[in-house]
Amino acid sequence: KLDGRATYRFFQLEMDDRMQARRRLELDMRQALARREFQLHYQPQLQLESDRIIGCEALIRWRHPDRGMVSPLDFIPLAEEIGLIVPIGEWVIRQACRDAVTWPAPMSVAVNVSPAQFKSDRLVETIISALASSGLPATRFEVEITEGVLLQESAKTLQTLHRLRELGVRVSMDDFGTGYSSLSYLRSFPFDKIKIDRSFVKDLSGKPDGDAIIRAIAGLGKSLGMTTIAEGVETAEQMQRIRAEGCTDVQGYLISKPVPAEDLPTFFASHPPQA
Ligand code: C2E
Ligand code: MG
Ligand code: MG
Ligand code: MG
Repeated sequence: KLDGRATYRFFQLEMDDRMQARRRLELDMRQALARREFQLHYQPQLQLESDRIIGCEALIRWRHPDRGMVSPLDFIPLAEEIGLIVPIGEWVIRQACRDAVTWPAPMSVAVNVSPAQFKSDRLVETIISALASSGLPATRFEVEITEGVLLQESAKTLQTLHRLRELGVRVSMDDFGTGYSSLSYLRSFPFDKIKIDRSFVKDLSGKPDGDAIIRAIAGLGKSLGMTTIAEGVETAEQMQRIRAEGCTDVQGYLISKPVPAEDLPTFFASHPPQA
């Protein structure tokens, strides 16, 4: 009995600790925008046929004063839960447009938009306003959504997707193949691009028939008229096989890690963007 009470107390303390850490993170995050602690890094995307850089994905970084770099995997979910993703996401969209307008045309920028942000009424207006004030053409702006956005595939979700499309903004399906019904989403909305999840690229080396899924998705994209980009390409062997399977584009450490905006000009100088 004594033992039981001690164990209970231990769990209680551990829970309190975790709640406190979460509250701390939440407070810090609420101040991070005003303190300019967020930063965007950009990861280039290569078109295989032309061997040119066609755009970059914007990936948020949080440079925390005490914790150092905090991974988006560690704060985006909380930001999403408490609604802070809306102002953070708005900052991402505006900053990405300001940066991308300085890149050689027609290079585009892809921005990740999470479910709570997608549901907010402001998304489309924010994008319109960010494009207008930066001068970036809508055709050079891309939105990446995961199937979390489409889970309650409501009329409103589809309407937002169509409004983006009418503006000329492109829409990609991120992490394709990891959810339960990726295929049915392709039927309800004509995405411009399918991003094949990194896990399938990993399977290329090692698993027998590891290339079967990539081949199937590349074929699917081709028949639906969608670009297919493989994520997380790290080796020359993976790239060679992805090319052989018919994917159109690649993104991954082999081409470049995500880099700060100020490092892109050097990268572009050695990897000519699409003419
Ligand atoms: P994601 O959109 O699927 O982004 C790809 C992730 O894979 C990035 O992690 C990128 O750095 C990493 N990656 C790229 N190439 C390679 C590779 O060759 N090998 C390996 N091992 N990893 C690679 P990151 O930057 O940590 O971002 C993680 C996730 O956080 C993103 O996944 C995205 O879902 C989310 N995220 C990042 N920035 C934003 C943002 O601005 N807004 C929202 N809502 N979500 C974001
Ligand atoms: Mg993404
Ligand atoms: Mg992804
Ligand atoms: Mg992924």
